[in-house]
Amino acid sequence: MSLYAAPIAKLIDELSKLPGVGNKTAQRLAFHILNMSFEDVEKLSVSIINAKKNIKYCKICCNITDSDVCSICSNTKRDGSVICVVEDPKDVVAMEKTREFKGLYHVLNGAISPMEGIGPEEIKIKELLKRVADNEIKEIILATNPNIEGEATAMYISKLLKPVGIKVTRIAHGVPVGGDLEYADEVTLMKALEGRREI
Ligand SMILES: [Zn+2]
Repeated sequence: MSLYAAPIAKLIDELSKLPGVGNKTAQRLAFHILNMSFEDVEKLSVSIINAKKNIKYCKICCNITDSDVCSICSNTKRDGSVICVVEDPKDVVAMEKTREFKGLYHVLNGAISPMEGIGPEEIKIKELLKRVADNEIKEIILATNPNIEGEATAMYISKLLKPVGIKVTRIAHGVPVGGDLEYADEVTLMKALEGRREI
């Protein structure tokens, strides 16, 4: 049983479910929230609900967006024949910061991880295959993270796409092995993109 009054215990419990938030941080955040003005607490809770309600997956690339088709997919100046496959929406932001890539993206929203019970069906691979079948695609750049899950996902997709006769490349390991794409600096990411090789 918690030593805190039930509403506070509940708040701490919910906050501690967030990634990277342990029990101590959850307690600190809960007391911070209690000290905030009612107006600020309301703004915070409404913004959480609105983000959840209004965000959907882009019909084309599966990135998160607030419209049916995201701003990148609807930009006619971008090269629709090259698709860069990433794990997360955060990776799109990281790649966009390089200003190097002018093609389109495909966001898998995860990576294959047998350890965590995430198979190919759980991520947006089917959607990628459909895109490839329906469009004139010249190259697929696999920019999944350079860790075990990211490599396994890249290999899996590459095996599916090879028979279709599309050029499949993997970004170079300028990105530290075991690292996360979103934490790579822009220059490293730009070099990784330039140094991609066919797989
Ligand atoms: Zn899109």
